[in-house]
Amino acid sequence: MRELLSHQDPWVVLPQIEELKAIAKREGLWNLFLPGGPGPGVDGLREGDPELGAGLSNVEYAPLAERMGRSLITAEACNCNAPDTGNMEVLWHFGSDEQKQRWLKPLLAGEIRSAFCMTEPEVASSDATNMQATAVLDGEEVIVNGRKWWSTGVGHPNCEAIVFMGLTDPEADRYHQHSMVLVPMDAPGVKVERMLEAMGFLDAPGGHGEVSFTDVHLPKEAIVGGAGQAFAIAQARLGPGRIHHCMRLIGLAELALELACTRATERVAFGKPIANLGGNRERIADARIAIDQARLHVLHAAWLVDQKAPEAIGAVSQIKVATPNMAQKVVDMAIQLHGGGGLSNDFPLAGAWTAARALRLADGPDEVHRGVVARLELARYGKGKWSG
Ligand SMILES: Cc1cc2nc3c(=O)[nH]c(=O)nc-3n(C[C@H](O)[C@H](O)[C@H](O)COP(=O)(O)OP(=O)(O)OC[C@H]3O[C@@H](n4cnc5c(N)ncnc54)[C@H](O)[C@@H]3O)c2cc1C
Repeated sequence: MRELLSHQDPWVVLPQIEELKAIAKREGLWNLFLPGGPGPGVDGLREGDPELGAGLSNVEYAPLAERMGRSLITAEACNCNAPDTGNMEVLWHFGSDEQKQRWLKPLLAGEIRSAFCMTEPEVASSDATNMQATAVLDGEEVIVNGRKWWSTGVGHPNCEAIVFMGLTDPEADRYHQHSMVLVPMDAPGVKVERMLEAMGFLDAPGGHGEVSFTDVHLPKEAIVGGAGQAFAIAQARLGPGRIHHCMRLIGLAELALELACTRATERVAFGKPIANLGGNRERIADARIAIDQARLHVLHAAWLVDQKAPEAIGAVSQIKVATPNMAQKVVDMAIQLHGGGGLSNDFPLAGAWTAARALRLADGPDEVHRGVVARLELARYGKGKWSG
């Protein structure tokens, strides 16, 4: 990990990552995020192939994802990293046979990477129906135009596919105006304008880019799941992704607490270990309580998703608010107990804090998820009256 952070060119894949990927595949630690049960399948892959994962439920995947959350590189080493996991699920559930062969197979094999381009600099993108970039049908073609940003993964040297959300039919009802289009990274008209820093972190080699699309002509078969289906696909895509992020954040918070306790028991100030100064024992206890609460909360949401229970929608929004906020607080406490060192890159805490903070925005800001939770809660007190 240190090598990754100190590498001169951050936009290259370290050979160690490929070595770890080979080990993960061999050991059956590959594509663990792929849910079990019969899926629509991909031609050329058979049950038992490592590319199809171990067929775990979300509850079974949770402790593994938690372990992955302790490191910057493990999710990629196990082919379980965002945004590829969400894109693979989109292709798995909504892709045509041709799209699966061209894009899903190499993604499942970890040979290529992908990005998801929904958010736009010019419009409030927490409302997915706002997107202005276009995906216009013209005879046998779909033509893509617009500008996206915070497109995670576009900096990766192996990023070959973009799932792009664009406006197709402004006359249709609000939830059927947009389409998802599979855009090859090397299609003429696609340009990464710049890579963004998230509070000073590039998150290389995947990074987060601002990408322009100028008259990108593609065959209409590049549309995923049919024109006008983007909103439904985005909802389906973000559900599992949100749970996975929360599972990994539990691991990140555990790591932070572990570092905090190690530091606080080993370092001495005013004649006492830091753990025994002021209210530090209480802070450590509160962190333990908060992590354990969040873990159970996430497991409950994962179980509801596994059961395909209607309550899963509210539960996922609940954990999407609770977990990043919990992780941010725990990491912040760990930074404080580390003193100045906590803000340096000698410890992974500054990066961890930024990751937790970012997840209060990515996949929908806290407020939008609180809105979902409140709407479901209030719906019990008068049908239709509180749906806004
Ligand atoms: C590290 C990172 C990675 C990301 N990766 C991706 C990616 O791969 N692909 C992608 O498409 N996007 C990605 N995003 C973008 C992210 O999903 C958006 O930033 C998010 O959805 C919010 O959209 P916005 O930035 O346009 O904020 P806006 O929609 O402008 O919202 C701004 C603020 O308004 C407030 N607000 C909005 N709605 C409500 C409401 N209903 N009630 C109360 N207050 C509200 C909130 O405080 C919100 O933060 C990423 C973002 C980050 C930070």
